[in-house]
Amino acid sequence: MKTVLVTGGAGFIGSNFLNLFVPKKEYHFVNLDKLTYAGDLNNLEISDHDNYTFIEGDICDVKLLEDLFSKYKFEKVIHFAAESHVDNSITNPDAFIKTNITGTFNLLHQAYSLWMESPFKFRKGFENTRFLHVSTDEVYGTLEDDESLFTEETPYAPNSPYSASKASSDMIARSYFHTYGFPVITTNCSNNYGPHQHDEKLIPTIIRKAIQKKAIPIYGDGKNVRDWLYVDDHCKGINIAIHKGEFGETYNIGGKNERQNIYIATKICDILDELRPEQAPHKELIDYVTDRPGHDFRYAIDASKIESELGWKADETFETGIKKTIKWYLDKYNQLVNS
Ligand code: NAD
Repeated sequence: MKTVLVTGGAGFIGSNFLNLFVPKKEYHFVNLDKLTYAGDLNNLEISDHDNYTFIEGDICDVKLLEDLFSKYKFEKVIHFAAESHVDNSITNPDAFIKTNITGTFNLLHQAYSLWMESPFKFRKGFENTRFLHVSTDEVYGTLEDDESLFTEETPYAPNSPYSASKASSDMIARSYFHTYGFPVITTNCSNNYGPHQHDEKLIPTIIRKAIQKKAIPIYGDGKNVRDWLYVDDHCKGINIAIHKGEFGETYNIGGKNERQNIYIATKICDILDELRPEQAPHKELIDYVTDRPGHDFRYAIDASKIESELGWKADETFETGIKKTIKWYLDKYNQLVNS
């Protein structure tokens, strides 16, 4: 069985990816995660599978990476590990520069050293190697209401330390393809939601506060727009991109679900009103708070390249995905209350 290195697999998207693909038994997955505040081994429902190994460690630790690449001879790398919360990047950009930029470079370089004999020439036995760099649509900056969607041709214009660090890592990944013929593929995805997302993010915050009947904070006037994708759809897109994507290409992944933040909060409150009529109405908890500095107004993804070239398509609409997500959080909350 070939071995795949997954970085950041104890976080939100990485854990959903492993929960989906470890049970298929097509690869042995090694999950390398530093277990920052955002990583939680309880997110993993597959820890007892024999094709899964967890290693606690930092992608900035070059010696550890050398040892792991030499021991496991990874055939593929799926790189999720990152500092991912925009608000934290405003107060503590340092960790974003280290993990997102230096950490990504370290991984690319170790994979290059293992896989390539010289630029554009793979070592014998390493011809099927692929490095999937997981990135974000935030690298493209912000859109006005009337501007057309982000495509793979949209120039990069990151506005937060988070998006600037991700944009930098995308450029380093790109350079490894153009300079060395390295088999890297980059995906730029819109906002994800679903089970196991960290409490700090928008949708878990709205659901948690509403369930607890506490004020639901919404930045500014609530009119900022994000393009939402159910996390399993993102994971399936990554799996298709690493198997069918072209070296050096980037693929946007998004679900055509542009929604204003205030719509999200109201929709979640309406669904909770149906599921918990005794606690209705939840909407009155919505509380507008001071806007985030440099808050991008709108993100919206054109995913037609991955749809037409690789055959990916989102299975969930926002309405079906958000219902599943709310039910998952309600279950988690009930378990906590009853434990
Ligand atoms: P997350 O914050 O939930 O998880 C990140 C994981 O990386 C955590 O388990 C953390 O412990 C680990 N980690 C952090 N620094 C590390 C280091 N130095 N070494 C090893 N592990 C480290 O993030 P997420 O939401 O799951 O995002 C995963 C990836 O997807 C990120 O690269 C992010 O930029 C990208 N992305 C996220 C979204 C989204 O909406 N969440 C959208 C598009 C792209």
